[in-house]
Amino acid sequence: MKAVVLGGSMAGLGAALALSRSGHDVAVVEQDATPLPPDPVEAFFSWDRHGAPQVWHSHAFLARLRNLLHERAPDVLERLLAHGAEEMAFGDNPPPEFQPFEKVPGDEELVMLACRRITFEWVLRSVVLELPHVAWHGGVSCRGLVAVPDAEAGVPRVTGVRLSVDGDEEVWDADVVVDATGRRSVLPRWLEEIGAQRPAEERVDCGIFYTSRFYRLREGQEPPTSQGLVGMDLGYLKYAIFPGDAGIFSVTLAAAKDDAPLRGVMQEALFEAAARQLPPVRDWLDPARSAPVTDVMSMASLENRRRFFVDDGRPLALGVHAVGDASMCSNPMYGRGCTLAMVHAYLLADALSEHGADATATALAFDAATRRELDPWYDAAVIADADSLDAMAAGRRGEPSALDEKPDPNAPDEKPDPNAPVDPRAFMRSVLQEGLFPAMRSDIVVLRAVVRSINLLDPPQSLMTNPDVIGRVLAVWRDRGKREKRQSELGPPREEMLKVLADAA
Ligand SMILES: Cc1cc2nc3c(=O)[nH]c(=O)nc-3n(C[C@H](O)[C@H](O)[C@H](O)COP(=O)(O)OP(=O)(O)OC[C@H]3O[C@@H](n4cnc5c(N)ncnc54)[C@H](O)[C@@H]3O)c2cc1C
Repeated sequence: MKAVVLGGSMAGLGAALALSRSGHDVAVVEQDATPLPPDPVEAFFSWDRHGAPQVWHSHAFLARLRNLLHERAPDVLERLLAHGAEEMAFGDNPPPEFQPFEKVPGDEELVMLACRRITFEWVLRSVVLELPHVAWHGGVSCRGLVAVPDAEAGVPRVTGVRLSVDGDEEVWDADVVVDATGRRSVLPRWLEEIGAQRPAEERVDCGIFYTSRFYRLREGQEPPTSQGLVGMDLGYLKYAIFPGDAGIFSVTLAAAKDDAPLRGVMQEALFEAAARQLPPVRDWLDPARSAPVTDVMSMASLENRRRFFVDDGRPLALGVHAVGDASMCSNPMYGRGCTLAMVHAYLLADALSEHGADATATALAFDAATRRELDPWYDAAVIADADSLDAMAAGRRGEPSALDEKPDPNAPDEKPDPNAPVDPRAFMRSVLQEGLFPAMRSDIVVLRAVVRSINLLDPPQSLMTNPDVIGRVLAVWRDRGKREKRQSELGPPREEMLKVLADAA
């Protein structure tokens, strides 16, 4: 088939790769008129990627993505590694409490990639540009769809796209159109314009702002730990360190977007002041070890959003499919977008391979696969966001977090009164903060289960349905009154941090 892919970022490149290797001819249409720089390092400093501003933010590349490449596009994985991406395998550098570390079957799947987003995209595009059945059209943007009525299906059948090429409108024919234009995709409007029903849409504000800054290790300097990606949650502030390639790493801070004093970290001086209060970050940012190579980048209009292109068992239109963020996007804090975009692209290629020219069957199969593979992660993001925003709001009201409490070594064992009224969300939050998080630092079985879920290898509900893991977490939770809290290891309480920010301002 002749496919036109709209958007040449993660999902569009993934679709081009998967579709062309399934035997289709692919034209990729990308609005940014920016040719591929000679190498990823130059791309990092000079590539104009206005169409996907998140390329300038920290990105995690999860094991499910790495495994997908390993199985279906090993050349992409090889080229990533050749350009400095590193594999971070579970148990490679265990903290002392987990030594000696014994691998178990399944651990070989638990391999993340340390790599900058710009490097990932550069490598992916360089592979796609070499594919014999892919044509790249940079600086061309899509304005809408072209369709004819399909009498049998009773919905429009897309036959092409309307493009802006050098300021003129052109119509290109296509057997299948793939919308990979990202979180700002206007596909619902394009569908309405060809007479199709507007897709149902769910949107939930993530409620956070997200700031990133990149740093480069100085000549001869090594990272302070080999622990890989580190993510921490202070309740009022989440932060992470993302090891990258070419000695470049990034630090991300995120908090509630209505937390006015904390929003100050979007300014460089305050970002630096806050980051240096966080013990795991401080060592990375030691001026003798590293220096910043970018400004502080911020994004605040972030939402979870999914769309439904099948209504009551009937596709809204034939011959057009949305992949990646155009179909579903979620809070970047969970680092799932690129992995799910690539998974989604391959699901589309598989649906097309299976159903060929039967456009209705393809649409239904792709929708079923989307609901099965993507929806659980969307639902998990919405639930986790609600909990996290609750915790952040509690912190702003001055309520103590689990991290703030003083330990009482003489506290009696907690024996919950089975008849006491329970606020299920407060209970779950307590189990998470005072059971799951500490158990991850002491019990390798719990840690492994969490890391598998974070890496999308097990479904999000797997933690809550594994009796062994639940038992271990609850045992730790029952001891919560006695445990040393880790506040000072992770970062200052909110009041202290606000004072630091006020001084820096
Ligand atoms: C701050 C932030 C941090 C993130 N962190 C992570 C992370 O750690 N790990 C992770 O996996 N994911 C992360 N994500 C999510 C990830 O970046 C996205 O899920 C991913 O980029 C989706 O790829 P996409 O191709 O669907 O969309 P995009 O990457 O947004 O690309 C859309 C492309 O379409 C082009 N385009 C748009 N309109 C048109 C048009 N009309 N015609 C032609 N071309 C068009 C754009 O120029 C762009 O190139 C993060 C996102 C954000 C915002």
